[in-house]
Amino acid sequence: MHEKEIIYTDESSVFCDGESGELGDASGHPRIYLTFKTDTLVCPYCSRLFKNKTIKNQQSFKKNNEKK
Ligand SMILES: [Zn+2]
Repeated sequence: MHEKEIIYTDESSVFCDGESGELGDASGHPRIYLTFKTDTLVCPYCSRLFKNKTIKNQQSFKKNNEKK
């Protein structure tokens, strides 16, 4: 059983080619460019999970503005 790897970043986008992690069953895929729309992003090829702290902060900031 492989636990899904979670990669934390503060960039607004990431590259994934399926090879940079330690997933034994992911033998790589074409390098793709993924842009965060929420604080969570899943690679469509290898299902790797990316989390963005910065976007989370922006969302809570937005919420405060909407509460006016
Ligand atoms: Zn991937």
